[in-house]
Amino acid sequence: MRRSKTVENGHRDGLGVRVATGSLLDSSPVGSTRLTLEACSRFAIPCLVPPGERHCSHSEGGPGTRRCGQYGAAVTTALQTTTITAGHGGAFPLPQGRQLRVTTVEGSQVVDTWALVPADPGEWLSMEHTRGMLSKVSPHAGDLLYSNRRRPVLALLEDTSPGVHDTLIAACDQARYDQLGHVGAHRNCVENFRAAVSFLGGAVPAVPSPLNLFMRVPVAADGRLELAPSVAGRGDSVTLEALVDVVVVVSACPQDLVPINGAALTPTDIAVELLP
Ligand SMILES: [Zn+2]
Repeated sequence: MRRSKTVENGHRDGLGVRVATGSLLDSSPVGSTRLTLEACSRFAIPCLVPPGERHCSHSEGGPGTRRCGQYGAAVTTALQTTTITAGHGGAFPLPQGRQLRVTTVEGSQVVDTWALVPADPGEWLSMEHTRGMLSKVSPHAGDLLYSNRRRPVLALLEDTSPGVHDTLIAACDQARYDQLGHVGAHRNCVENFRAAVSFLGGAVPAVPSPLNLFMRVPVAADGRLELAPSVAGRGDSVTLEALVDVVVVVSACPQDLVPINGAALTPTDIAVELLP
């Protein structure tokens, strides 16, 4: 078993504990046992608790901090806010009825967002099903978001951004950066996703199309697409509510070769809050 625990935790920046979730690289699947979301008695946060156990077996952090090493993300129990470093990702168990807020801290940062249903490894938030159910290409506040079983799994409760999000574009991957001319390894959202869900033991057969929060992809009348700079401003956020138990996976897209994350081509941090 290889498990990297190189979390660079430590300093607070007003939003919570900053972590470099490069620690997500974890090639040790733990099997495909069905897990249930319960309140972990050790960390007092929603977590995936194996059958028969009282708490998850993940690593802990310092005072005021609970770091769920299984997801490579820190949860500050006091503030319940995690800052994810630009280009990195994390996963957040979200029990039915709980809400999670995703913020672009500096603005203009695209957040690839997935939701998996831990009770059924074959069910996940599906952009193609959501588009069909909503009869539109982009969801707005008040919309339900659907799984590949055509049942609503998330609600888009609140949106303080201009409301421009994308459901059409696949998550970036190494091949994308290769094709753009980048030489060598490049961080990408697919690897962030795979790392974050490695605890599912390969139960996710493919990488679903993400809900690309704050990503602007105008669709022209003739059907052409444009990868345009995000219009999300500093501190803009989207709040999601779980309609069933889900694990939400996010990736602060590391794209720095096309201007989706702003004309400056500079990915920035995101914040994830588990609302009380
Ligand atoms: Zn990306």
